[in-house]
Amino acid sequence: MQPLNEALSQNKTACGGFSFPREAVSAVLRERDGTVQAKSVPDWLAAGLRYYHYNFFLRRKFGERVQKVSVDAGFTCPNVDGTVARGGCTFCDNRSFSPSRRLPRQGIAGQIEEGIRRLQRRYRVDRFFAYFQPATNTYAPVERLRPLYEAALSHPQVVGLAIGTRPDCVPDGVLDLLSEFAARTYLSVEYGMQTMHDRSLTWMNRGHGHAAFLDAVSRSRGRGFEIGAHVMLGLPGETRDDMLATAREVARLRVDSVKIHNLYVVKDTPLADQFAAGEVTLLDRDEYISTLVDFLELLPPEMIIERISGEAPPRYFVAPAWSLDKPAIRTALDNEFRRRDTWQGKRFGD
Ligand code: SF4
Repeated sequence: MQPLNEALSQNKTACGGFSFPREAVSAVLRERDGTVQAKSVPDWLAAGLRYYHYNFFLRRKFGERVQKVSVDAGFTCPNVDGTVARGGCTFCDNRSFSPSRRLPRQGIAGQIEEGIRRLQRRYRVDRFFAYFQPATNTYAPVERLRPLYEAALSHPQVVGLAIGTRPDCVPDGVLDLLSEFAARTYLSVEYGMQTMHDRSLTWMNRGHGHAAFLDAVSRSRGRGFEIGAHVMLGLPGETRDDMLATAREVARLRVDSVKIHNLYVVKDTPLADQFAAGEVTLLDRDEYISTLVDFLELLPPEMIIERISGEAPPRYFVAPAWSLDKPAIRTALDNEFRRRDTWQGKRFGD
């Protein structure tokens, strides 16, 4: 067995002299049988992080910060237009997704130009992903999708695509198209999983069950693009064990990245009515942070964490107020990681 201190010093050299939390590394290195595996230290942990931040991944892959610029291509959703349901998801402000109102504000190129100008006023960044964000961005025939994705990719500062969609809207022809783009550029396909519990998916009027997510992930594998999952914590009726069952499912499926946020209430949605009637209780910040750390502990260390909170613009936002204070959420998360001396993947496989 290799002595622990030796393994640590070897690893420190290999990680380029970063200062990293030795107590954390020693625990990662020590296998259950007491042997030491220096190779098992993730580089983000070696760099002093407690979870695999998206920005860390981007800097490693692209050598610099890359920012997503949002694109509205005028899609709707099958649970808005009546194909699988009407009204959209309970929490989603999807009024503008109604088919009769789906006229994009302007062309893809114009949106990207405007978005880049806006982002460059806030950040020093030169490269961007075109993020097809609102509604279901694969919900159209291949002939309509192809020119939209092409238009985004043709912008000289766009170095990749991110496409948000539902798992029940990726027929094989669409996946073939996505594979084509993945062969040319960085592509991330973000599926709305939300939860593994069908009763919660029914509550949110999703119009599909967890089986659709399993099917989409299985047919997306090996196609050259990153597979992402969106997950929500604090759905009505879900216990902490239920949420952690979703974490274990995300871990089992080994998606490449995950976005996590708490359930929050936006004006003029069915959820806003339920919240006003006292039918829905939201997580407070301490509950959310504690559950989030539990969740992250169960994920594999190589899974990219794209987001740990979510919010809507203040003029649309109802509750909980703490969701709007992202710096305070990040600080609370960091404090909880330190208090428990833990990190992403510490309990992976438990
Ligand atoms: S959450 Fe997604 S699938 Fe649901 S209505 Fe909104 S955009 Fe459509």
